[in-house]
Amino acid sequence: MADSIEQAVARRRTFAIIAHPDAGKTTLTEKLLLFGGAIQLAGEVKAKKDKIQTRSDWMKIERERGISVVTSVMTFEYGDNVFNLLDTPGHEDFADDTYRTLSAVDSAVMVIDAAKGIEPRTLKLFEVCRLRDIPIVTFVNKMDREARNTFEILDEIEEKLALDTAPITWPIGQGKTFSGTYHLAQNAIRHGDAETERTKVNGPDSNRVAGLLPENERETFIEEMELAREACRPFDLDAFREGHLTPVFFGSALRNFGVRDLIEALGDWAPPPRAQEADSRTVEATEPAMSAFVFKIQANMDPNHRDRIAFVRVCSGELKRGMKAKLVRTGKPMSLSAPQFFFARSRITADEAYAGDVVGIPNHGTLRIGDTLTEGEEFLFRGVPNFAPEILRRVRLGDPMKAKKLKDALQQMAEEGVVQLFSPEDGSPAIVGVVGALQIDVLRERLNIEYGLPVEFEMARFSVCRWISADTKAELERFVESHRGDIARDLDNDPVFLAPHEFGLNYEADRWKQIRFAAIKDYQ
Ligand code: GDP
Repeated sequence: MADSIEQAVARRRTFAIIAHPDAGKTTLTEKLLLFGGAIQLAGEVKAKKDKIQTRSDWMKIERERGISVVTSVMTFEYGDNVFNLLDTPGHEDFADDTYRTLSAVDSAVMVIDAAKGIEPRTLKLFEVCRLRDIPIVTFVNKMDREARNTFEILDEIEEKLALDTAPITWPIGQGKTFSGTYHLAQNAIRHGDAETERTKVNGPDSNRVAGLLPENERETFIEEMELAREACRPFDLDAFREGHLTPVFFGSALRNFGVRDLIEALGDWAPPPRAQEADSRTVEATEPAMSAFVFKIQANMDPNHRDRIAFVRVCSGELKRGMKAKLVRTGKPMSLSAPQFFFARSRITADEAYAGDVVGIPNHGTLRIGDTLTEGEEFLFRGVPNFAPEILRRVRLGDPMKAKKLKDALQQMAEEGVVQLFSPEDGSPAIVGVVGALQIDVLRERLNIEYGLPVEFEMARFSVCRWISADTKAELERFVESHRGDIARDLDNDPVFLAPHEFGLNYEADRWKQIRFAAIKDYQ
């Protein structure tokens, strides 16, 4: 029996893993897939990671984009739930891709290295989640190694992230003596690699627990548990769903500890696909008409065809093979004749997708990041963010005859989200902007290989870029008029102000209080 839309939506959990490199994201991903039965995929995650250790390898993989298409979204089942795990690029230079992916999830798992605590990239990614109040489940990994004191770890999360914590499990032992987890509310333990069912115990001082710990650690464990019960916050589902509190689990992805605790928590507590804000109304996940938005575009391998796969997150209704959709930006119909569903390796082989699912739509450049697809209704989803680039460059072309070709190529790359493109109002050559330096390398490489355009990048006289807006058109015009040499338009023709440095920006912002300078722009 096929699910009704309500059942399908209720079963789904769409999430991403956020972590500082090396905290164990890849290992945990593999284990989640293994526990969820998607064994074949599990190997590919590792394969992909192994290949992109070095910069030059990244180039190669960027050209062999097949693998990343496969692991961009990983679907597995566990219990009654269908999980969609959206992968985010590991390298921080591709951060904007990660931010966009986070706009397509309903919850996130934050992986922390038990010895290192909150690291810079964890913090950054957490802040992006907070912008959208995405509920976070915390997994403290590598408990089988030298770890910080459990209370210290919880304190650090509370302090550095200003986020309440509720430990759900407590580690039994740590480092060499780590042997399982104790569920505080249920008085039950899980131990051993196999990690099957939880076993009920009488309390932290029961013989079962004592048997798992060396003698000199038993007393401390009992004391800690008493203190944890008194001092730690209980889990509160509403606070978690609102993004104010994180349930915390302890484990070792490498040794399979705590992984089941984590999957079950996602199934029990993480929210099903949420209602999505569009410009004219809120769209409920269980509405019958299909709607979806594009959050990521992956160029395909064949440079002669300009094939792209647009990753769309379904927001309502059912997306079916062969259906006609409306691309709201252009008003044109679009046939979804060959959508790629990512369930192929799990038990369900589906020909339709529901809210929370991600579908790949091959196209030749019709779809852009942020685009909305509907069954006819006119609304645009908000919320796929654009982050102000931190590196701005002018593109220098050896052969001026190819200027038009370059313009088209840059336009296409900008639509894919590889770079942001700004056309100065004064007619000077286009400026490209990226968030991470490696993106410039990818751009150079792809312009050369895919378009036959060898280019160099020159420093621009600007290093800061902000989207500008004002309450009235006249106010904005006045600013634009008096700064014409420092204004450019982005792909959507929205104006940006370019400044040589932060100081220059602050100076103008002080003088022009009526102008808003935004470092983040939603695509729509
Ligand atoms: P990523 O960069 O976050 O994807 O991290 P990986 O999953 O690749 O892990 C980084 C390193 O930590 C690898 O050598 C893993 O084998 C190791 N690792 C991951 N999880 C654990 C764990 O629970 N315990 C131990 N001891 N090592 C781990």
